[in-house]
Amino acid sequence: MKARYGYIGKMLFVNLNDGTIQQEELSEDLARNFIGGYGIGARIMYERMKATADPLGPDNIFGLGTGPLTLAGTVSSCRFTAMGKSPLTGYWGDANSGGNFAIAQRASGYDMLFFEGKAEHPVYLMITNGKAELKDARHLWGKNTVETEVMIREENQGKDYRVVCIGPAGENCARIAAVINDRGRAAARSGLGAVMGSKNLKAVACMGFQRPGIHDIERVKSLVADITNDMVNDPSGMIMVLSNTGTPGAMGPHLAVHDVPIKNWSGNNVEDFPKEKWGRVGWDALEKYVVEKYACEDCKIACGGWLQVSDGKYPIKKTHKPEYESLAAFGPDCLNDNIESLIYANELCNSYGLDTIGTGSTIALAIECYENGLLTKSDTDGMELTWGNSDVIVELVHKIAKREGIGDILAEGGKIAAEKIGKDAEPLAMHVGGELMPMHDPRQAPGWGATYASDPGPGKHTRGGTQFAEDGHGPELICKMLGIPTKLEKYNPEGKGKYHAIMAGWQHLTNTSGACLFAADGLNFRFIDVMKAITGWDLTPENLVQTGHRIAAMLHSFNLKHGFKPSDFTIPPRVCGNPPLTAGKLKDVQIDFEELKRQYYEAMGYDMDTARIKQETIEALGLQDIL
Ligand code: SF4
Repeated sequence: MKARYGYIGKMLFVNLNDGTIQQEELSEDLARNFIGGYGIGARIMYERMKATADPLGPDNIFGLGTGPLTLAGTVSSCRFTAMGKSPLTGYWGDANSGGNFAIAQRASGYDMLFFEGKAEHPVYLMITNGKAELKDARHLWGKNTVETEVMIREENQGKDYRVVCIGPAGENCARIAAVINDRGRAAARSGLGAVMGSKNLKAVACMGFQRPGIHDIERVKSLVADITNDMVNDPSGMIMVLSNTGTPGAMGPHLAVHDVPIKNWSGNNVEDFPKEKWGRVGWDALEKYVVEKYACEDCKIACGGWLQVSDGKYPIKKTHKPEYESLAAFGPDCLNDNIESLIYANELCNSYGLDTIGTGSTIALAIECYENGLLTKSDTDGMELTWGNSDVIVELVHKIAKREGIGDILAEGGKIAAEKIGKDAEPLAMHVGGELMPMHDPRQAPGWGATYASDPGPGKHTRGGTQFAEDGHGPELICKMLGIPTKLEKYNPEGKGKYHAIMAGWQHLTNTSGACLFAADGLNFRFIDVMKAITGWDLTPENLVQTGHRIAAMLHSFNLKHGFKPSDFTIPPRVCGNPPLTAGKLKDVQIDFEELKRQYYEAMGYDMDTARIKQETIEALGLQDIL
């Protein structure tokens, strides 16, 4: 039976080898069991992708997925997921982005899009209200992401197509390339821009007027009124910060609790990045450049903003406000406190189509290699890669996107770049299984590390875990609903696996639903009631967490099929506290993340040593026909 409520009920499969395009029904079973986004994506790709698929070869499948909350009348639910086999890890890869593309994809008539093969020459897929066609993109190859978006609209009678695309970095198969939409929103992690590039797929443009069925629209309207009312009259601290400043407002608080990696994760907090610099890399420094606030289409939080830098070395007419992650990666992690260079590096990543976390972290690695004599001026085209050298950092972004000189090595991302630089460089690459780590230090809250090392898409900060409770502020309404505490002892590992598993299940569910994480965690979002009203399903916290676990098992099974073993995803010794930091709040902190990972596997029903999914788990999740 075709999925009816919460879904358009259609998936599109594009074979780029021969240009054929086929439509398939999205069944109620698939929807109910795997929700959307990377849930449905993993289920499809597990079955249809060969284990031998080269991430940058034609056998990889690239997907764009949406969830049931998008375009369904609720709030802050406009996320889409890009996915495929990651060229950074060789295992499952996904990344999600806000903006307006997800809404347009659904309105164009498809919940999910999948691409296999490789086109003979650059192409883009255009979907106009259910009609899909591949169009020549040779004239777009080499254009940046903003130019690409504008040109696609212009050549299609100025119609309001929403576009995801790659820039030159993806075309050059930089493994840290991102998928970009809305002039610089990024599905950045996992190197999926390179997957698009390897397929000669420059862009996907969508528009249309289709709508998913809604089970009880009056109930949805009434819930939205309640959510909005609560937000206006009793906003949480998190929502106030996001509304006023966006994520850059988190820089000061994160620095204060020693959450921000400094000097390629080797630095001590104030000793290496003194307090007088803190105000130069966060909201206090950014505020004066903001010319306009903006929100994704269905959101009242409005965490986004447009910036203008009028003069100086790095002028830009119009650019997105950088996120905290981007500021931290190009800022404290490289000891750079020049705010205009941070805005500029962020804009370059958006227009070339690069992951800011991956790019900033790989540059930090290069600087440390230069400091240690592992790279010299003869490797760097004469550039001096010194800490905090903002001109060099900006120049390296250009070189990475173009794969020019040293940029050709750094475009491979930290892990492979370090292997190419030489053995002594490898411990300096701050990655988990090839994915550069996000800007949250697990020595400060071990739950970050447990998540980075145990999720099937490693090195991500949006997969649930114990970290917020370790900081004393687990999301109150969610914790209450799930029956778990909002506070945990930070450095006591006891019982962490079970808690981690519950939060991971919940997070997989919200991620695949299309909801924005900020809204789902920060608003009184009434997630279950909203899902029920839209889909008509009978839902409880328990069966929703179990659905999240089914999605996790599908992602994990994808990895197992592709050869995964637990030792593939480990936290770098430096971040385990080996050697420990020598000063500050994190002095001498050492953490056994392998123990936390084993606890998580056990709580998820996987073998603690091999990570194989136990038969009883497979049966409990109803996956015996698949696995
Ligand atoms: S909180 Fe920010 S990212 Fe999330 S939906 Fe709203 S504007 Fe978009």
